[in-house]
Amino acid sequence: MTTDEFQERQRVPRLRLRVTPAAESVLRSGHPWLFADSIREQNRAGQVGELAVIYDRKDRFLATGLFDPDSPIRVRLLHVGKPRAIDHNWWAERLTQALDAREGLFDVQTTGFRWINGESDGWPGLVLDRYDRTLVLKLYSAAWLPRLDEIAELITGRLRPERIVLRLSRNIQTLAQQQFGKADGEILNGPPLDGPVTFLETGLRFEADVLHGQKTGFFLDQRENRRLVESLARGRDVLNAFSFSGGFSLYAARGGARSVTDLDLSAHALAGAKRNVALNSANACAASCRHEFVQANAFVWLNQEPGRMFDLVILDPPSLAKREIERPGAIRAYGRLASSGIEHLKSGGILVACSCSAHVTAAEFFEAVRRSTLNAGRTFEELRTTRHAPDHPATFKEAAYLKAIYLRV
Ligand code: SAH
Repeated sequence: MTTDEFQERQRVPRLRLRVTPAAESVLRSGHPWLFADSIREQNRAGQVGELAVIYDRKDRFLATGLFDPDSPIRVRLLHVGKPRAIDHNWWAERLTQALDAREGLFDVQTTGFRWINGESDGWPGLVLDRYDRTLVLKLYSAAWLPRLDEIAELITGRLRPERIVLRLSRNIQTLAQQQFGKADGEILNGPPLDGPVTFLETGLRFEADVLHGQKTGFFLDQRENRRLVESLARGRDVLNAFSFSGGFSLYAARGGARSVTDLDLSAHALAGAKRNVALNSANACAASCRHEFVQANAFVWLNQEPGRMFDLVILDPPSLAKREIERPGAIRAYGRLASSGIEHLKSGGILVACSCSAHVTAAEFFEAVRRSTLNAGRTFEELRTTRHAPDHPATFKEAAYLKAIYLRV
């Protein structure tokens, strides 16, 4: 019996909300979040994960969503428009839609990619990544916890994985443990796992620390940028700053780079990068490229090693604006970072600058990088800009975080 059926049997009245006119139009336009301060009326206190029904000012049905009393995003919308039952068939249909949207994107050479990307796939606050036969289900909202078993069963039935690993965003871990007995890194279905799993991305083999790693263990979102880097790397000396486990580096090596230097603050990340090089030793190009690993603060290293010159510099820092208030400072920091990167570029060299801050728009980021290049007295040819990969759709502003710009300097 699902939580919703249980509540129906208990004859608890449906959780009903009325919202401000402003919120009403935002929700109608397709935005998936209802903030707590937009609620005008609520018939009773709601529980985490309950279905909330939202009515417009004429008392007509507007939307249904998952309620979370502890989050400022009080309801994450599942459906707007005519009333519809959110039952097992609903979830099954939603899963089919997400899987269909990826149909034909990947062949057997890519066994690591995203099956479900949260709100943008109709699963607000829920991510499902595939790493070969292991799936990682990551929750960013506690509202999924009461229906976790139902969802895991549905996914298992459809995708037949070896196992599903549950990952929880930090802010919901305590509640998950105390109220639902669920822990970050726990196996929901299938045999235990005591280390990383390996998978293929366009034929390159990588490991992913699905139990403890950042995100779900690997930055699957950068695949398309890595492919572009591969196509630009022949004969070049490459600096991969903020390398994490060396994803960009292996693509550069396969693309014929002369050398690649991985630069990261984390010894753990660089150890993973070394193992990833070893995993691809059968690839002649990847094996013949010279790999160097530097553990340092990239912001400092770039300014302290003026003599080190490269033909391709990749800058993929962690988010520099975690909150809206940090936006102006982050735009300046992206500009400074690009300037530092350009200092290390030989003439004719290529800069690939990425940003994963949702608070900084693509236009702001691209402008900051272009301006820094001009301020450095260098002329450039803009090769391209990129946004989200097709398995990481972003259907609303807050979801659109990833952007990259390619300049030949
Ligand atoms: N480009 C990577 C993802 C980068 S994630 C990929 O394609 O997989 C950001 C990385 O920046 C993390 O590995 C983190 O350890 C590293 N990092 C964070 N702050 C840093 C700093 N000040 N200097 C160098 N690396 C840093």
